[in-house]
Amino acid sequence: MSEIRYDLINDEYVIIAPERLRKPDSFKEKKEIKEISIKDCPFCPGNEHLTPNEIYSLRDGNKWKVRVVPNLYKALKIEAPLISTQIGIFEKIEGFGAHEVIIDTPRHLFKMNDFTLEEYYNWLYVIRERAVDLKKDTRLIYLVFFKNQGKLAGASQSHPHTQLIALPIVPKSSLWILKRAFNYYKEHGRTIFEDIITNEEFENKRVIISTDFFIAFAPFASSFPFEIMIIPKKQKSSIIDLDNQDLKELSNILKKVIDALYEELGDFDFNISFGNPPINKNFEIEEFFEDIKYFWRFYIRIMPRIYRLAGFELSTNMKINPVLPEKVATLLRGVMENGI
Ligand SMILES: [Zn+2]
Repeated sequence: MSEIRYDLINDEYVIIAPERLRKPDSFKEKKEIKEISIKDCPFCPGNEHLTPNEIYSLRDGNKWKVRVVPNLYKALKIEAPLISTQIGIFEKIEGFGAHEVIIDTPRHLFKMNDFTLEEYYNWLYVIRERAVDLKKDTRLIYLVFFKNQGKLAGASQSHPHTQLIALPIVPKSSLWILKRAFNYYKEHGRTIFEDIITNEEFENKRVIISTDFFIAFAPFASSFPFEIMIIPKKQKSSIIDLDNQDLKELSNILKKVIDALYEELGDFDFNISFGNPPINKNFEIEEFFEDIKYFWRFYIRIMPRIYRLAGFELSTNMKINPVLPEKVATLLRGVMENGI
């Protein structure tokens, strides 16, 4: 049984998940992701029996286009009770939550730039639908969607997939960022995100692509080389607030950015994370939960993993990024102008 333990010194939660040890690539690090044949791939059509029971699927007749299943090596599970216990000064919560795998496409692709526009759209559509569905369980407070592409990004399956972890608490680092955005809004009457967009457009040194609905740029203080942020220009606080037209626009810009990154970097590893706010209220966020729709804005962050994180990053949580974000924007804009 996994547990969410609270680290008193670092003021952050840790998921202690011994069940994940059964994961085949645990402990002994392998150099490459095990390339399995399509015949043995648990995420390929025809092998549905190799995964736990399906939670959701987007279908076209009897063929699935995106499929959602519980993670076989889950860190948290929904069947566990939501019990918080105090042991002396230590505090733990039984491993309550959800851990799902979204199989992005039936096609056993190796690179995201092989996704069609329709595949991007279906992928985003299902992520939104999972958020809508999990919000109904009011014990689930915070959703984390993430995609690991390649070994350096922590992927252990080559078939394109995304993971979702739903937590009964808000990670302390996310809570800190939410509070900052709330205070900024109270002080200025504008969101921190709209001010960043205005500034980026005014300076126009780090913008990669800007449409009527979205902007993609290399953040001023990017943590990772070639890091990209995509933010809606309209006030949309959560992926739940994006309508189908928004998802279409987002697929468009996302495909352009990912294609340009592949063009510039070759086959590279990366993580994609979603800046989504808490979906339900708990004691930690009571103060600002109702205002999230005004002060938070949904975003997508693409983090290429060109270098491994090392001692300095782990000691401080500060990153060293050897690539100028301004240079990233110039390079990617060049790639886009020349046509990919
Ligand atoms: Zn496959």
